[in-house]
Amino acid sequence: MTEQAKSAVPVVVQKYGGTSVGTAERILAIADRIERNLPETPRLVVVLSAMGRTTDELVSLAHQVSERPAGREMDLLLSTGEQITVSLLGLALQDRGLAAVSLTALQCGIRTDGVFNVARIRSIDTERIRAELDAGRVVIVTGFQGINDSNDVTTLGRGGSDITGAALASALGAEACEICTDVDGVFSADPSRVPGARLWGEISYEEAIEMASSGAKVLHPRAAEICMEYDVPIHVRSSFHLREGTWIRGGGQMMERAEVVSVTSDSKIAKITLLDVPDEPGMAARVFEDLAKAGVNIRLIIQSASSERQGRITFILDLEFLDDARKLVQRWETEGVTSSGVVESDVAKISIVGSRLASSPGLAARMFAALGRAGINIDCISSSEMKVACVISADRLDEATRAVHQEFFPENETATASA
Ligand code: ADP
Ligand code: ASP
Ligand code: MG
Repeated sequence: MTEQAKSAVPVVVQKYGGTSVGTAERILAIADRIERNLPETPRLVVVLSAMGRTTDELVSLAHQVSERPAGREMDLLLSTGEQITVSLLGLALQDRGLAAVSLTALQCGIRTDGVFNVARIRSIDTERIRAELDAGRVVIVTGFQGINDSNDVTTLGRGGSDITGAALASALGAEACEICTDVDGVFSADPSRVPGARLWGEISYEEAIEMASSGAKVLHPRAAEICMEYDVPIHVRSSFHLREGTWIRGGGQMMERAEVVSVTSDSKIAKITLLDVPDEPGMAARVFEDLAKAGVNIRLIIQSASSERQGRITFILDLEFLDDARKLVQRWETEGVTSSGVVESDVAKISIVGSRLASSPGLAARMFAALGRAGINIDCISSSEMKVACVISADRLDEATRAVHQEFFPENETATASA
């Protein structure tokens, strides 16, 4: 192939998650996979996560030396995990006689804002990557990290390697962003909770975003948002074989259509109810401004109708922000925002996600009925265009997920049960 013809070959970005690179043997298996497939993907950019639970281990190490590890030093620490995997894969590929180069975010110009721990990518200078691809090398990039304006390392938030993959695929105009993981694709429920879950051949970006933001860990919602904006197809597939997984792309070419595409569960949440909030203008704003200033991520808000000039505000937050929120609750109690804040961490959220949920109220009714038949009490309900979510007791989550899944995908459950 001439140099010109080579650079006309489309780029493919492949992101491998933590389990897929969890041991030296797995890294060797990924090197094999890349080598076998290289004739079909000669311009390949590989994005890697840290090995297995490395990032969790780094977080717990940080907690051993600091009460509230955060900020710049934390990001420098957390980013080290990805540096290990990219260099190991680089060595493994070179050992096979393949040309490969591993790059950190600094070396390949992944620029972010300055918000440590949850930075957002602003731009990618693709010059170095393109030059390496033109030179015939497989380019291996650290996921999850970026560089701010002062060249300090930032990280993109947990699960952020998907975002790196999506951003690189978009910046390079890639043919596809492959998310290679430990399951065969996107299922109608987490296959580790619901063994009979159905594997989708294709879903839309919107469905993927909604599923991911309601707790389906298989893809980071921001990765789907970026690819939707740049019109880059995502292919979620297994790291362990080359069979097709699930394509995520724009509408119009949907092969499969269902009203409910997934039943998602999220156990990493907590619920706070503020009792007797004075029924005055500005009270809700005060509460949520305080939460926003403390960087607390809120998932769902319910304000109940007030009586005797007292209201009640309930909100669901990510479990990781519970300590920050508790401190605020104590302050609000002393400052008269609430008579008492009830904090519950033994709750979980189950959601159904689909394209036409808002226009099919019968689907929500079927979800509630399935929970009712299983004897599971619904604590709060919220709904949006593409989602109906119920907060329930955490110890019933698996049972609830299976009951609701059975309601919407009975044939799959039966097929697995009889298999
Ligand atoms: P990686 O380390 O490759 O990024 P993750 O653990 O972040 O992998 O995501 C893959 C996991 O997502 C799977 O092992 C699976 O248990 C979970 N998951 C949750 N919901 C779904 C779903 N609807 N379809 C597929 N996997 C799901
Ligand atoms: N290693 C990081 C994490 O565990 C990023 C990722 O795996 O996507 O969150
Ligand atoms: Mg992940």
